[in-house]
Amino acid sequence: MSKLTLFAALMIAGFLGLQFSFIGQVTEFPADQIKNDQTNNSTKNQTIMKQTEKFEFQQLPYAYDALEPFIDKLTLEIHYGRHHKAYYDNFMNAIKGTEMESMDINDIFKNISKYPVAVRNNSGGYFNHTFYWKNMKANGGGKPTGKLAESIDKSFTSFDEFKKQFSDAGKTRFGSGWAWLSLDDKANLFVSSTPNQDNPLMDTAEKKGIPLLTMDVWEHAYYLKYQNKRPDYIEAFWNVINWEEVALRYEAALKNLGKK
Ligand code: MN
Repeated sequence: MSKLTLFAALMIAGFLGLQFSFIGQVTEFPADQIKNDQTNNSTKNQTIMKQTEKFEFQQLPYAYDALEPFIDKLTLEIHYGRHHKAYYDNFMNAIKGTEMESMDINDIFKNISKYPVAVRNNSGGYFNHTFYWKNMKANGGGKPTGKLAESIDKSFTSFDEFKKQFSDAGKTRFGSGWAWLSLDDKANLFVSSTPNQDNPLMDTAEKKGIPLLTMDVWEHAYYLKYQNKRPDYIEAFWNVINWEEVALRYEAALKNLGKK
């Protein structure tokens, strides 16, 4: 098992552990809680999570209006409650009675090209949205600090240049998709975009890596407030980024690549 694969597995375990922890919560989750969950989730998954709870539809980590005025309440209600929920329901239907029901989602992603397109679209839609909700928060934005900030400066020359590349990845994604900041298996940061509901963990991705930050650029993510003006939504997105969450993902990724 490569280090990248190992880390991806741990990342997914964290994702599943977190979703179990947040059921019933509507308030923003504290960063130290995430850290604890990332530390303990393997044990937690083995001891308290039943297989059937593996792919839970997780509570939104904040209120629907928490990201106003940048992302409006109605958009968030529909995006989370209908779009994300539909991906979840369709994912559950697509894997019902198959080996995938008991598989780690990372193993599904690693072999996604071998599975039906309904699995590819809906497993991605399920995972990507949960990942996106968590890298946003009320009163977010600003700039990252510490090691992540240093690494962004090193990889992209400056935060502004990174912001430009990430924004451009979203703006130039034809049709629907996602923009990503990820870490490759050499621990280098890179920006990419994926079509539809694909993500950098999938074997179909042009550039594979561990995702750290994502931005949904499907029209349903912004159309009610911004109509066709995707660049305005992208500019607004920088005001809701949860850099503490992204930094935790980065630290965990480095640690598991043995670079820290
Ligand atoms: Mn979406």
